[in-house]
Amino acid sequence: MEFKHVTVAGSGVLGSQIAYQIAFKGFHVSIYDISDEAVETARGRIKKLKDRFKEDLGATDEQVDQAYDSMSFYSDLGKAVEQADLVIEAVPEVTDIKINFYHQLATVAPKHTIFASNSSTMLPSQFAEETGRPDKFLMLHFANEIWRNNTAEIMKHEGTNMNVFEGIVGFADEIGMIPLPIYKEQPGYILNSLLVPFLNAAQELLVNEVADAETIDRTWMAATGAPRGPFATMDVIGIHTPYNLSKAKGEAGDETAKKVAEYLKSNYLDEGKLGIESGEGFYKY
Ligand code: NAD
Repeated sequence: MEFKHVTVAGSGVLGSQIAYQIAFKGFHVSIYDISDEAVETARGRIKKLKDRFKEDLGATDEQVDQAYDSMSFYSDLGKAVEQADLVIEAVPEVTDIKINFYHQLATVAPKHTIFASNSSTMLPSQFAEETGRPDKFLMLHFANEIWRNNTAEIMKHEGTNMNVFEGIVGFADEIGMIPLPIYKEQPGYILNSLLVPFLNAAQELLVNEVADAETIDRTWMAATGAPRGPFATMDVIGIHTPYNLSKAKGEAGDETAKKVAEYLKSNYLDEGKLGIESGEGFYKY
């Protein structure tokens, strides 16, 4: 299975990173977004990535310019996918937007084109029928800052053709990712299936006053050799995300989650301590 031409649909935070990473690895990449204005924003966003690739990967000026210059930008979906062997969808995490997008895509994409979604929280079976080609549809989930956090979680649904699945596993490797094949649908893929319960357990220990954050982190690091504990990890993610998760669980009736959300709000968010991005969270940076 060969992927020469790749189209990335949606050129926001993740779409622009995915597109640039693939272009950097020498593939022909087309970017699609809904308007000329959105496409212009994408150009600016991608130009900024050049510096990150130079700083973090030691890429040369010539390499980063060549990758950028090789990309094509479209606000017309039909033109954007005309030659596509693979379309990677990175449109907003809103079910109706994704469904509408797949309906449009199904009518204009060539028959052989494989569709992959970068959705963080949804399952492939939610969209499989909407794509008009369930056998050629699966998830291909990247992490933010893809050029250095280079995981690619590849998740099939029951109807995904196994050759397609294996083809995308191979493609992920070719674009510099660590391919992580997932054979069954699983909300949160592998990483969040492990990480969310782990962080929840740590937060419960804290709000129940079993131990303080530093001791909990130290326990985890000393006992497992991990470079950081759960609270330092929350500082990296940004405290908003675990807060939103606990708040939603609290609203659904989980009393401990409610306590966690209140704790994070009053001690951290209301104090402007958002994690590394604001210079302070559970730790100072
Ligand atoms: P974003 O809001 O930054 O970007 C979304 C882009 O999609 C925008 O450029 C918008 O103009 C465009 N768009 C809106 N409607 C569209 C349509 N109908 N067709 C084409 N483009 C359209 O969002 P994001 O953070 O890049 O997230 C995109 C997807 O990637 C989501 O599914 C999200 O779950 C997933 N994801 C995000 C992250 C992250 O850290 N941000 C990490 C992994 C996966």
